[in-house]
Amino acid sequence: MSILARLGIRLLDAVLPPHCLTCEAEVGEQGTLCEACHGGLAFLAEPLCPHCGVPLAKPAPFCLTCEMQPPAFSAARAALRYDDAAQRLLLPFKYADRTELAGFLARQMAAAGASLLARADLIAPVPLHWRRQFARRYNQAGLLAARLARRARKPYAPRLLRRIRRTIPLGELGADEREEVLRGAFALGFRAGPRIAGRRVLLVDDILTSGATAEACARILLDGGAAAVDILAAARVPDPRSDSALTAA
Ligand SMILES: [Zn+2]
Ligand SMILES: [Zn+2]
Repeated sequence: MSILARLGIRLLDAVLPPHCLTCEAEVGEQGTLCEACHGGLAFLAEPLCPHCGVPLAKPAPFCLTCEMQPPAFSAARAALRYDDAAQRLLLPFKYADRTELAGFLARQMAAAGASLLARADLIAPVPLHWRRQFARRYNQAGLLAARLARRARKPYAPRLLRRIRRTIPLGELGADEREEVLRGAFALGFRAGPRIAGRRVLLVDDILTSGATAEACARILLDGGAAAVDILAAARVPDPRSDSALTAA
């Protein structure tokens, strides 16, 4: 969409009654959802695995996956369950230029990840490969990270990590294959070393699928000298093993 067309939409938005972000219903305030769409979203709530944030049936110190192999990151949290309703927000946000959805998503993420935001020294997005970012014109994780940093008054560090290899969608792959695909996909950003030394980084992504991407990024940051890494996503797949239809970029 051209800048002129976007500007046109902004102008129209300013004179027309505000609409729900995901349907045609009128709402009281720009950038919100109607009651029906809001009610359709599944907000993740305790009990969650303290490490990876996966919903649990009852409170426990770990989920089974974390007990077998604890993640490199300290904690991961997400605002929403990644279901049909969440897809109506996230797919247009990610692929169809609906960048205005970032505000609503970041508000939900700030609530779900309040403690992670409070303890973060730096806020960084999971990077896209430059070719993909060039084609899409924005990194959806970067839009979320920038808004979260502004809300929390923390430094936004968009170039802590680089994606140096394009990767195929991970959705259909098993854990070992994911790890293989992601090996060498990320590297520390230029001059990022001194910035992260001894600091706690909050890494932001749009969708947490298997956690393999978050894990790969966390390892790079920790190897590079970061004290700790937390993960905050807009939505997560509750049990990645039960869902093979998803793709992670
Ligand atoms: Zn609606
Ligand atoms: Zn866990």
